[in-house]
Amino acid sequence: MEPGWVCPAPRGNLRSTGPVSAGVRRGGGGSAVESLEEASLVAVSRAGQSLRLDHVREPGAERAQGAEGLDQEPLGLVGLSEWSQQPLPDAQEAWKLHAVTLVTSRSFPRKGANDMASGQRVGFLGLGLMGRGMAKNLATKGFEVTVWNRSREKATALEPLGVKVAATPAGVMAEVDVVCTCLATPAALEEVVAGKDGLLSAARRGQLWIEFSTISPDQARSFEQRSSTAGVDFVEAPVTGSKTGAEKGTLLIMTGGSPQALSRAEPVFRAVGEKWIRCGPVGAGSQVKLAGNALIAAMLQAFGEGMLLAAKTGVDPARLLEVIQASGFRSPYFDFKGNALLRRDFETHFAIDLMHKDLGLFLDSAAANRVPTPTAAVVRQCYELARAAGKGEQDIGAVITVFEQLVGTEIRSKS
Ligand code: NAP
Repeated sequence: MEPGWVCPAPRGNLRSTGPVSAGVRRGGGGSAVESLEEASLVAVSRAGQSLRLDHVREPGAERAQGAEGLDQEPLGLVGLSEWSQQPLPDAQEAWKLHAVTLVTSRSFPRKGANDMASGQRVGFLGLGLMGRGMAKNLATKGFEVTVWNRSREKATALEPLGVKVAATPAGVMAEVDVVCTCLATPAALEEVVAGKDGLLSAARRGQLWIEFSTISPDQARSFEQRSSTAGVDFVEAPVTGSKTGAEKGTLLIMTGGSPQALSRAEPVFRAVGEKWIRCGPVGAGSQVKLAGNALIAAMLQAFGEGMLLAAKTGVDPARLLEVIQASGFRSPYFDFKGNALLRRDFETHFAIDLMHKDLGLFLDSAAANRVPTPTAAVVRQCYELARAAGKGEQDIGAVITVFEQLVGTEIRSKS
């Protein structure tokens, strides 16, 4: 082993200092931006040297979540003794490799997103249920945020957070280094991107565009190609976690793009999400996102039908939910949607119109690739029925209410 590069903690360079926390510092300057704990293996460079992750050759070493794409960047990494809370005397640079998630440690307060954010000017286009929460998180985590939304009042509502409001998407582009989009449909996005005063009309070489909406893989690839012509890095980043995840900054992000572009996007991901998974090049993130939505739409439909039949036959639907969640039928999704259904709470977190759009994109992709997907086709018809009943803007949990009306029974707990 090359001396000083890799050692199992707390041996080697760290032996005398006890358990360590490791933090990442970019370019050797600034303060720690993210912390790691419970390292079982750390890479250590000597004081004054910078460590590159590609220096680490230990077999089986894993990248920490958040470390992807950092390989090419010189990293200043810092270590603290958990006992003394003082910087490690001879091992100022350390990197934990066996962590699979970045977590906050006691010795490194999580100033992460703020430190990475300072000075970064980020734009946000589309302040619906998802975009609003994400833009708020960026503003409260230290980014300089400029926003635009078709209905201006949703943009001005963020001004108390220090957010600037631009008159057009092009106006946002003039102010920022990174622009994010989260819009309802492929058509809306196309208009905001390529229409009059659109995003691309004011794009500058060196900017980064992070696309959070759910779109088709083909549209994502087209955006990447057009961005590249303008000298802009493009990253696709559809999300899951719904309105609550957007508000709390705990979204899961399905990324597609080059490692370099994705590494540039990480400070933003860290501010809005809890975890991000690189699915492949641009297009792969959208492909994964559409499959995930086809899955939850089918699960929710089957769940609703089971609950309705229970209610119709005199069985308490609350007992069915209890059994589902106590057994192999279980899904965390039903904790959220099942209890909401029993409470008759249909507050919109994800609109029927949007799931209908996503199922359509999934079926288009399946048809283009000659993959039969009969379940998604049938489930989309259930969404068609709900839209025909005027429920398009309601939450996806309300699809089953159309079936309730046909059957003349409501799903309600008897207890
Ligand atoms: P939403 O609440 O309906 O917001 C849609 C946004 O798009 C609003 O800012 C809306 O502007 C804008 N918009 C719609 N048509 C437009 C047009 N023609 N020109 C310009 N702007 C237009 O939707 P959302 O729930 O935030 O979803 C946004 C995206 O994230 C969608 O692609 C969705 O599939 C995806 N997504 C949603 C969820 C979820 O749980 N909600 C989860 C994951 C992914 P106005 O305010 O003026 O209407």
